[in-house]
Amino acid sequence: MDIRLLEIKEKVKSHERLDRADGLYLYESHDLLAIGEMARDKKLEMSGRNVFFNVNRHINLTNICVSRCKFCAFGVDENGEGGPYLMTADEAFEFGAAAVDHGITEFHIVSAMHPNLGLDYYAEVVRKLNQGFPDIHIQAFTAVEIFHMHRISGRTIREVLQVLKDAGMGSMPGGGAEIFNDEIRRKLCPNKAMSDEWLDVHRIAHQMDIKTNCTMLYGHIESKEDRIEHMIRLRELQDEMPGFQSFIPLPFLPENTSMEHIKRTSAVDDLKTIAISRLMLDNIPHVKAFWIMLGLPIAQIALDFGADDIDGTVVEERIMHAAGAGTAKGISKEDLVNLIKDSGYIPTERDTLYNIIKEF
Ligand code: SF4
Repeated sequence: MDIRLLEIKEKVKSHERLDRADGLYLYESHDLLAIGEMARDKKLEMSGRNVFFNVNRHINLTNICVSRCKFCAFGVDENGEGGPYLMTADEAFEFGAAAVDHGITEFHIVSAMHPNLGLDYYAEVVRKLNQGFPDIHIQAFTAVEIFHMHRISGRTIREVLQVLKDAGMGSMPGGGAEIFNDEIRRKLCPNKAMSDEWLDVHRIAHQMDIKTNCTMLYGHIESKEDRIEHMIRLRELQDEMPGFQSFIPLPFLPENTSMEHIKRTSAVDDLKTIAISRLMLDNIPHVKAFWIMLGLPIAQIALDFGADDIDGTVVEERIMHAAGAGTAKGISKEDLVNLIKDSGYIPTERDTLYNIIKEF
């Protein structure tokens, strides 16, 4: 380990916060195993030998989207190609209900920016599921979707969140953060919430006691500086108004997008990003290796690089798979438990809010 890495290791050990230069040095270093070891130690300190997963049902209400982000293979025009669809509230209920016997503890609702669905529709979907299955937590709508509902309805962000909370929304996922560089956002996704707007939605959600997650989309046209800046902005918001439960780094999957010329991130980059995020985000309790996008082998190794969560056994997922995620659309609980056990950790089923349901 070189002197600079040793300095960083000392900082981590003595709970001194890493700064931009430290984060960038970690990205520049080729000592992957040393970085991984530091992150693993940090993970052990923060969550012991537990590795979390949950059992959920993804419900993607519609793929009709006015945003058409360049990195997305899911959103389509209302009357265009690509199989536009929209579930009615009853269909969404039936779709969710069909998974209840699989032991799910969460409905995970993420969709697109539909041109004219009103807030009432979203509230009705949540209300029906909540009334039908009051014990199943509803994690729903990214900040980008909430911001879109705010624009379409003319209601404030706080009012939109209150309507959804009253209907039964328990927490929010972390999607749509992409990368906090508005120049890049204007190139890749100009029609949706910009960086400050995304952060504002989460700030308000946290003020309203709605827990959320956060993500970072990496491996497209951003720089390593952008990635570190992104992590620091999340860390600052968490200091100011805590409420993030987990950070989920998402590698860009180029297939079927208009950026197919960009190469998929390497395993080294994926593992380094997991490890660096664990080290930089000292105030966010969990780092998730999202197996659907990373693939199971890298997700499993990521458990030794600082990740303490591997997402869930997802009954069906469309968004990542539209972009060519080569993973299965779901994995059995038994397979997930064995995969975690093989890594030497304690498979721990959790609910959405990280209450432990069962250790295996
Ligand atoms: S990433 Fe989301 S907002 Fe952007 S085009 Fe895809 S579905 Fe629409």
